[in-house]
Amino acid sequence: MASLPPKVIEHPSTHWSDRQGESIRAIVGHGTAGTDSLAYLTKNPRKVSIPYLIARDGTIYHMVPDSRAANHAGAATSTLLIGNKVYKGGEVNRVTTGFELESLQEGKPTDYTMAQLLSMGWLINDMRRKHGAIPVVRHATLDPTRRSDPVGLTVAMMESWADRAAHPGVPDTPTIPDPPKQAQLPGVNGLVFSCSAVVAGFYMSRGGPGLFGLLTANEAHKTDARGQLCTITPTERVIIKNAPDTVPHLALRDEITKQRWP
Ligand SMILES: [Zn+2]
Repeated sequence: MASLPPKVIEHPSTHWSDRQGESIRAIVGHGTAGTDSLAYLTKNPRKVSIPYLIARDGTIYHMVPDSRAANHAGAATSTLLIGNKVYKGGEVNRVTTGFELESLQEGKPTDYTMAQLLSMGWLINDMRRKHGAIPVVRHATLDPTRRSDPVGLTVAMMESWADRAAHPGVPDTPTIPDPPKQAQLPGVNGLVFSCSAVVAGFYMSRGGPGLFGLLTANEAHKTDARGQLCTITPTERVIIKNAPDTVPHLALRDEITKQRWP
């Protein structure tokens, strides 16, 4: 896991537009679907740009300053709803900041690195320090007919990385005691809370795309905060799948914990 704060490198893009006096009201999360993004986002025929590019090693490239709008989410089909106000097309660029996660966007666990996600969490917190408690939204949500990025990364997951980055002392140190009765899975030395989150995420995504955008039926494995596997057993899978919607995920986690360590 990379350390915080991440390395931030100034690397201005050639492309930007005028904010026309608007202030920043939301953060848009993207995935690049390519790995030569820095050069492309610096100069390209479509004049596409992004405020921040997050490389796979966690390095953040600052490409368009807050005083300007980046050309990242302003397609004619783009719609952003903030409160009861609707922003459309180019207006979306004027009221947003955003980041690209350098990623092949294959819908696999390898799409993002831990260092990258931690830098993303740090960046979201940093943006909120500057612009207030603004929401983070997926590009796919703004422009669902054209975009699916960032693949496999829900808003809840982005928020959980922001949370983790806000408590940088927590991950990575084996000296942190594990509280009793938490769901540290056999063979996993990582942090317990994240394995609980795996169970919670699995539960909440029943019937729909899960952690990495895969169908829940295929999601036997998830990684914890240290990139190690948390495995959901077939029995647990059945418990989770059959749990009524009224069962809160924490209760479900406790139930599974009890079965693992009676
Ligand atoms: Zn995008």
